[in-house]
Amino acid sequence: MKWDELAQTPNVVQNYEMLRTSGILDAIEEYRSVNASLESLLQEAYEIFRQESVDKLIDLIIRYLSEKFIPSSMLFVLNEGIMINRIKILAYRNMKGVELPEELNRIDTLEPFEHFFRTYTGSTSFLIMEEELGATGCLDPFRNFRPEIAVPVLGISGLYGMILFGPKILGEEYNTREIAYIDRLIRFTSIAIQNTIHYEHSVKDSKTGLYNHNFFSNRISEQTARSRRSQTPFSVIVLDIDRFKKFNDSYGHLAGDEVIINLASTLKKTVREGDIVSRFGGEEFTVLLPAAGSSEAYMASERIREAVQMMETRYQGNLLKVTVSLGIATFNPYEKSGDLNLLKRADKALYQSKKNGRNRSTLFRSGLLHKAGGLERKARN
Ligand code: GH3
Ligand code: MG
Ligand code: MG
Repeated sequence: MKWDELAQTPNVVQNYEMLRTSGILDAIEEYRSVNASLESLLQEAYEIFRQESVDKLIDLIIRYLSEKFIPSSMLFVLNEGIMINRIKILAYRNMKGVELPEELNRIDTLEPFEHFFRTYTGSTSFLIMEEELGATGCLDPFRNFRPEIAVPVLGISGLYGMILFGPKILGEEYNTREIAYIDRLIRFTSIAIQNTIHYEHSVKDSKTGLYNHNFFSNRISEQTARSRRSQTPFSVIVLDIDRFKKFNDSYGHLAGDEVIINLASTLKKTVREGDIVSRFGGEEFTVLLPAAGSSEAYMASERIREAVQMMETRYQGNLLKVTVSLGIATFNPYEKSGDLNLLKRADKALYQSKKNGRNRSTLFRSGLLHKAGGLERKARN
């Protein structure tokens, strides 16, 4: 029986005064409130584990915190690298993201805090941190944000980060319940952050942040199954930098690396949301266009080609330029075979683009390869 119903039964009603003075009713009330907050924490944990990027995760945490109390400042200091340090800091004032001050931008390791958080594994007063680490100067960059509570993000590889909370906006102290809430929330968040960091490393190329070969191939298989079910086409584009060997010989490998990084961000900016860009190998990239038929894919390919042609990479005072050749293949859900060769087909079309003079797009059509000159004219009209 639920407590609300139980409270109406004659026995309870008759003995109400005794139950009240004995403190049992208060105890029940307390249990009910603890139970409700655990229920909501479980719900929150479920949502926390479903986030697919660290940024989304942090947005969610901020939303949950703001339902309970508002810290006047917050700093998320995370190491997103695994083998190397890649520190990412997000700063908030009154729950709004703010630009990082210079001194925070310079932080490139969590090492000074590792020893401390081996002892203090949960929410800790910043005063204790000050006592232990203040003299080393490693806390100086954070002082402008007036931290009061520090919480480590701990996991299998040690310290993944820390979160610092400034005073509450209305000035009163954090109470024990709030500190316990922060502690629990961040314990879940820590696991979710690790998952996300390790997941991203397993599917992304570390130089460009684009998806890797393996991830891309899996998405193609998924998309093939989906396309068969929905009887709609999808396309892939394969692209390769033109005469890149010669480029490296002229400007050096490091200049080439800068171009690859720049090209990756041009690609990301040029494709539509939902399209998947990957670095397939050294200077070869692929794009999956889940809803595009051949003419849309051709237009997307030309958009990419033109964007790369306009792109300039600054390196040691020079503005460097490259072009790319592209090959496009479209999956036809009615075709009986050959779907697994979609990448091979796009690659053949790419080869044709190279052969025909580079800096162009070619659409694969079974039987013959179209340089898509006709299509090109059609797209312009
Ligand atoms: P083509 O127009 O026929 O594609 O000529 P290419 O010289 O680009 O062709 P090829 O595939 O023979 O050479 C690719 C070159 O790309 C060779 C390699 O040095 C360079 N490359 C591959 N990956 C990287 C990378 O990560 N950084 C740099 N700087 N160069 C790379
Ligand atoms: Mg190549
Ligand atoms: Mg090349």
